[in-house]
Amino acid sequence: MAPAPALILFDIDGTLMSRAGAHHKRALEEAVRRMAGRTSSLDAVPTHGKLDRDLLNLLLTEAGLSQRARRLALPETIRLAQSIYIESSPPRLEDRLCPGVRPLLETLAGEKFALGLVTGNLTAIGWRKLELAGIRHFFQFGAFSEQAATRALLARAAIRHARKAQLVERAAPVALIGDHANDVHAAHWNRIYAIATGTGLGSTEELRAARPHLFVTDLTELRISALATLFASPIAGQTKRRREPVIPPRPDAPPA
Ligand SMILES: [Mg+2]
Repeated sequence: MAPAPALILFDIDGTLMSRAGAHHKRALEEAVRRMAGRTSSLDAVPTHGKLDRDLLNLLLTEAGLSQRARRLALPETIRLAQSIYIESSPPRLEDRLCPGVRPLLETLAGEKFALGLVTGNLTAIGWRKLELAGIRHFFQFGAFSEQAATRALLARAAIRHARKAQLVERAAPVALIGDHANDVHAAHWNRIYAIATGTGLGSTEELRAARPHLFVTDLTELRISALATLFASPIAGQTKRRREPVIPPRPDAPPA
């Protein structure tokens, strides 16, 4: 297959779908309950824009595990969380798709763009959600929470994979579409186009303050002509890459 003219990377929650988090949260909590033997909860935690691995770490901390015990428990907790989600996921999530998602994916697929995921979801959970929403087949690959420590590094892994597998030319434009400032930061760090959509739970002000190259209220507004214009413009303001990716505070980090 010929390399695609562009690579478009999508976040999942708040971007492709919304209100699909309840079963997901319960799966993370249940995995920690089985591992730690104690209940901990994400109810008071703003989970949007976060990585599942960080959330599991947070829950394991709340359940009383030491740093060393958490490190040992994490791989099995990750495995458990995924299998619990698969067993307990809702029958379908088609009604949770954000406005404009399916038509946009159809248009992008029609343009032969390469489509991938950059998400804080664990692998099996992310793919399962897309399957339940009926959009799994649009995506060729993804970078998921357990593969890297930050969203910026996940985006980098996705871009590298796409280039190495020759899904896109090395010089082809790459965009990351997300609903959170962390998605925009991840795009900037990788010097790719940042597209923000206002369908997430965070504030629009915060999202705009992260300075995406393009902001849309929802994906019905994202036209192929706007993408073409974007890809014809240089990636402004990113002449020098910051040396470190934006790292969200770790649950076990000492207070600043
Ligand atoms: Mg999101």
